[in-house]
Amino acid sequence: MSISDSIPENMPNWSSDDSADLYGIRNWGLGYFDISSDGNVVICCKHKGKTTRTPLNKIIQGMKQRGFEMPVMLRIENLLGQRIREINQAFFNAINKAGYQNEYKGVYPVKVNQQCHVVEEITEFGKHFHYGLEAGSKAELILAISQINDHDSLIVCNGYKDADYIDMGLYAVKMGISCFFVLETSTELKIILERSRKLEIEPLIGVRINATSNIKAKRTTDPDDVTIFGLDTRDLLEVIDLLKNEQRLHCLKMLHCHLGSQISNIRTIRRGVQEACQFYNGLIAEGAPLGYFDLGGGLAVDYEGTRTNHIHSMNYSLDEYCSNIIDTIKQTLDSMQIPHPVIVTESGRSVVAYSSLLLFNILEVRQQKSRKISDASGLSNHEPLKHLQRVLDKLDQKNIQESYNDAIFFRDEMRELFHHGQISLREKAISENFYLQIVEKILRLKPYSNQLSTEMDRLPDDLCDIYYGNFSLFQSLPDSWAINQVFPVLPIQRLDETPDRNAILADITCDSDGKIAHFIGNKGHPNRIKLHSLKPHEDYCLSVFLVGAYQETLGDLHNLFGDTHVISVHINADGNFDFNKEFHGDSIADVLSYVEYDPKALQEKFRKKAENAVKEGTITVASRQAMIKAYNAILNGYTYLER
Ligand code: PLP
Repeated sequence: MSISDSIPENMPNWSSDDSADLYGIRNWGLGYFDISSDGNVVICCKHKGKTTRTPLNKIIQGMKQRGFEMPVMLRIENLLGQRIREINQAFFNAINKAGYQNEYKGVYPVKVNQQCHVVEEITEFGKHFHYGLEAGSKAELILAISQINDHDSLIVCNGYKDADYIDMGLYAVKMGISCFFVLETSTELKIILERSRKLEIEPLIGVRINATSNIKAKRTTDPDDVTIFGLDTRDLLEVIDLLKNEQRLHCLKMLHCHLGSQISNIRTIRRGVQEACQFYNGLIAEGAPLGYFDLGGGLAVDYEGTRTNHIHSMNYSLDEYCSNIIDTIKQTLDSMQIPHPVIVTESGRSVVAYSSLLLFNILEVRQQKSRKISDASGLSNHEPLKHLQRVLDKLDQKNIQESYNDAIFFRDEMRELFHHGQISLREKAISENFYLQIVEKILRLKPYSNQLSTEMDRLPDDLCDIYYGNFSLFQSLPDSWAINQVFPVLPIQRLDETPDRNAILADITCDSDGKIAHFIGNKGHPNRIKLHSLKPHEDYCLSVFLVGAYQETLGDLHNLFGDTHVISVHINADGNFDFNKEFHGDSIADVLSYVEYDPKALQEKFRKKAENAVKEGTITVASRQAMIKAYNAILNGYTYLER
């Protein structure tokens, strides 16, 4: 049974709590999102122990007054700060509780969301906790160096490195920043040693181990078992020998172990940390000083709120994550009499996922609903059509299954006749409409009948509507397409009204993959979402939650839909908010220039075409002017649909 089935039509007394249950917001929202009793999504922020509840529709109203149309990526700055505080606090508590003899220093992996204002906010909020940055390329290192002002914070450099990358990291060390090079391969070390000699700057070196506990790429969807990053034990020995030969073993200060992203099972983490401890011990035994233990990313986000080890969920809390790491390292290293290192993690998604919401409006709905067909009289001469009419008339509680079977049979007969050119378009439309009328009647009678096949359970899904949303899946939710990531989606208003329609969501790209047909529900992942019938002249907006991680940077220009507007708000202690940052999305001229068109040259080509048309007498000069004006306005407008 799907969730759509569990709601009788036009259920009276539908409340916001019913919506909260239906969309699971109190399970996946971590207390940051809720629904108010008057049916609106609210953002919950903590201010010195007090929680404010700000209605999302108030923020949207403010956005519209400032001239921003949907779609919009909305960032709640407070939630970034809150996450950083919570992660640091959880490690602090675990360290105190276990009597661990060193500290925690987190770094934020820039690749998870490189947007300047996100990184700026993270470094600003993180200053208090000496929160650093992780870079995976030259470009990311360049930006990391510019953002880090606190010399007690770390920069961790992963990814393959050339001489330029290494020189930049060495300059950072010279300026007093603790910038670590984590070796991905043993050949990289030779370049580091060479550049370090040349520049006379001692490097801070880490080794990334290739642990057998690593989870597979793309979470669990990739059948390939080969881990592409990190040094195996033979590579590690080569690195140690080279460092010893060069009298640089004292530079080996960090062990790095990234087990994977979105690790949903706490046992995988515990096992991985135990294994990494053995590597730590082995390196200490070889004479490396170490002192920093970097566990990479992997802290999961419970997108579906089920608290299970399903790939879109996690079977542990933040506190459990921290205490598992701290306790495991303490117990294992204590037994080897090794001093406790600084613990570093590189949590990405867990830091930024919550702070961003994609907001979009519904443009139109294609309803799978019977309707009146004009000119339907006098066309019922075909036998299957007459049968369909009869099935509809005779359908009652006692013959549901039989009527359904007949309806499919005669509808298919009509399709066959159409295929062979024996019935008209109008006759086919009438037969499809009869079929829908029959199915609708069955759905009304179904709750009173108990001897039906399981096929009947899927009926509401067959009748689903298509809600066309003003967004591009490929630009704003690429993981939904690429790795079937499920994100929570729900309407942001009317949540105290019964959602009476079963729907899937389609975007505005003309790609058949541009749809969302997996949702968070109170039973598994229903492939339909319950939404409200649209009201005339009233906007109906949906929000996709937890999209702050990976989505913005991986998005692409499919159909030339560009970046959406981005609005960053800060919620104040009284629940009001400031529009701290506003960024206009790409214009059509912008996206065309990304694919090497010159907007000015395009304008000129259009002008010439219009002028030729004037010359040939097909348009007037006044029309020419109007057309050129429209062309230029569209060129400078938003790539999404505007009202
Ligand atoms: N560190 C490294 C080296 C990574 O490759 C990644 C992502 O895969 C991360 C950190 C961030 O992981 P997550 O977003 O799961 O915290």
